[in-house]
Amino acid sequence: RLYNEVIELKGNIRVFCRCRPLNDDEIAKGSTSVVDFESAQENELKITGSDSSKKQFKFDHIFKPEDNQEAVFAQTSPLVVSALDGFNVCIFAYGQTGTGKTFTMEGTNENRGVNYRALEELFRVSEERSDIMKYELFVSMLEVYNEKIRDLLVEDGNIKKLEIKQSAEGTQEVPGLSEVPVYKTDEVWELLKRGSRVRSVGSTNANELSSRSHCLLRLTVLGKNLVNGQQTRSHLWLVDLAGSERVGKIEVEGERLKESQFINKSLSSLGDVISALASKTAHIPYRYASYTLTSYHR
Ligand code: ADP
Ligand code: MG
Repeated sequence: RLYNEVIELKGNIRVFCRCRPLNDDEIAKGSTSVVDFESAQENELKITGSDSSKKQFKFDHIFKPEDNQEAVFAQTSPLVVSALDGFNVCIFAYGQTGTGKTFTMEGTNENRGVNYRALEELFRVSEERSDIMKYELFVSMLEVYNEKIRDLLVEDGNIKKLEIKQSAEGTQEVPGLSEVPVYKTDEVWELLKRGSRVRSVGSTNANELSSRSHCLLRLTVLGKNLVNGQQTRSHLWLVDLAGSERVGKIEVEGERLKESQFINKSLSSLGDVISALASKTAHIPYRYASYTLTSYHR
């Protein structure tokens, strides 16, 4: 539903699709991809269902299994640069567990993802503009698990209880969330890694927990025009959403059931907001949406 409705939106919202390559296990099992790029139009793909029914989807851009992190970032960087122009931007990675959300956003040391590249690009462009603009960059990182917010840039993020408040300007803020000033590209990879390490603390299975929580990286950009003195403050949110797979209510109970309900609620709220934006209704249900959404600024 999300894909189909979002694609109706032009300009403000873009939807990209990334298909990861088959992994070794899948290859060993003789699995084949259900995605067919060749018989589809550009930016469309066909998916063959288990009953051999075909479904076709259209996106603003499709990344094929052979497309690397550079190729993905090449499409993302204009959005990142918007943040330097004073616009709020939000990038979500949405999909089932195992589809490559964390690989795309975080990446690995050798294959760094959108998060690191976004910061690198912000530094590069701010340097380029240094004659007329002075920028300051701050990094915050938080996790939303069962609708509780955890600050990932303090060593014991569990201690501080954080909440979302609407500011007078109508933006959503998280008072008390750490904001780490960053000055150069060299230091940010370590900082991002530190955040993801804190994320997995207290969990017996890091992958398991990370697929059950939303991870939000917030880059705050303060800009000052050295010619006319005009100042801007904007946020670039980079979000690795919890796995979109639905867990059957009968199959799970206790903690798992609670987790599933929170995830389903927040992802369906995200769907409601995007549907409302797509249909251009006057009322956008931001306030009903859960924490994931409060990061989305119009
Ligand atoms: P998710 O965060 O959606 O659960 P991951 O990002 O953890 O999924 O990806 C699952 C596995 O697939 C990881 O081992 C990851 O390194 C690998 N992977 C995902 N996307 C790609 C890709 N485009 N190229 C190579 N490996 C990938
Ligand atoms: Mg993940």
